[in-house]
Amino acid sequence: MSDEDTFRAEVRGWLAENLAGDFAPLVGSGGPGREHEFVRERMAWERRLGADGWIGLGWPEADGGRGLSWRHQVIFHEEYATAGAPARVGHIGEQLLGPTLLMFGTAEQRAKFLPGILAGTQLWCQGYSEPGAGSDLAAVSTRARLDGDQWHLDGQKVWTSLAQFADWCFVLARTDPAAERHRGLSCLLVPMRQPGIEVRPIVQLTGTSEFNEVFFDDARAAATDIVGAPGDGWRVAMGTLGVERGVSTFGQQMSFQREFEAVLATARANGAIDDPHLSARLIDAWVGLQVMRYTAMATLGRSVSDVPGTEPNINKLLWAPWHQRLGELAVDVAGAAATVTGPGYELDNAQRLFLFSRADTIYGGSNEIQRNVIAERGLGLPRDPR
Ligand SMILES: Cc1cc2nc3c(=O)[nH]c(=O)nc-3n(C[C@H](O)[C@H](O)[C@H](O)COP(=O)(O)OP(=O)(O)OC[C@H]3O[C@@H](n4cnc5c(N)ncnc54)[C@H](O)[C@@H]3O)c2cc1C
Repeated sequence: MSDEDTFRAEVRGWLAENLAGDFAPLVGSGGPGREHEFVRERMAWERRLGADGWIGLGWPEADGGRGLSWRHQVIFHEEYATAGAPARVGHIGEQLLGPTLLMFGTAEQRAKFLPGILAGTQLWCQGYSEPGAGSDLAAVSTRARLDGDQWHLDGQKVWTSLAQFADWCFVLARTDPAAERHRGLSCLLVPMRQPGIEVRPIVQLTGTSEFNEVFFDDARAAATDIVGAPGDGWRVAMGTLGVERGVSTFGQQMSFQREFEAVLATARANGAIDDPHLSARLIDAWVGLQVMRYTAMATLGRSVSDVPGTEPNINKLLWAPWHQRLGELAVDVAGAAATVTGPGYELDNAQRLFLFSRADTIYGGSNEIQRNVIAERGLGLPRDPR
């Protein structure tokens, strides 16, 4: 057996052994449109993953990770999705903040924050977007000023996913109002459980609340909990977004396969597969799935690309509209049944997929923004008028 086969058997065995007993009901739970499910149990699942070394697989061993290759991480994601293991509540810490600290954090910051993420005991949220700053992130107006050994924050974030469960938030804040707008920003690590922070859930199309408004009213962060130098926040944020749009979507792609299979199974069961228009769309969806998989496999392990800086954007432009089309296909395959919800606006998987996937082409950078980046950085086309 090759090393990779051995690893796959290890992952599969661990999942079979652990996704049982108290954790058995978690199969298929959580994720977009379902983050409200089994929250406490999924937090316990995070700790189980952490205790057995399944968080931070690709992180350097010196920082507590396992230093595993891309191929091993892909295997883990494949097996995780195949087993229907629950959607992670710790993914923002593991996939966004952790890599950001590995890129830009001091040794002290890595020692302070990475162990909690690796153990699955510390949950994070991302405080970038504001009512007046989304695609135009440099317009961030939440302010932070240093007073003695603390930063004092005032302002508002919005669309902050999982803030209601998070222990910490990495916040993009304006620390130098006099500086040119990209230069006056800093990335601060802010504890969520303090009097100066109020979290207000936002109800979404799915009827559930996964993201929130977060208000800072003289909220505090330690002076040392700044990633990079004051004014370095734009560079740090761009580093995080590079990770967000690329690598971290890989695990998600694995679950697309399962969603596609569920749509196919419905089409087989209700006869929709005999409709030539629907079966053509099913074929297109399957082809798209293969294209995304091969593209991800071909590009993820590469440190230097042919077109530097645009691969994550290309990946996002591939998966987001694909997933949205799958949502549309799911309800078309379900037919009239998709127009009726259960009691109390209870959605089935097809309805949830359709509704939540509307967000795919917005979060992590909208389609238009991805195209702008590709146009400017990849093709050298004229810059977007600002
Ligand atoms: C489900 C979900 C979860 C999210 N989670 C988080 C989170 O955890 N943390 C966080 O900080 N943010 C989060 N966001 C926010 C997300 O990053 C923003 O919604 C996104 O960046 C778009 O910003 P906006 O909503 O302000 O839209 P806007 O920037 O106002 O854009 C509105 C429309 O205008 C278009 N547009 C804007 N600028 C241009 C341009 N220059 N050229 C062409 N078209 C343009 C956009 O493509 C879009 O169609 C989340 C969003 C969603 C939907």
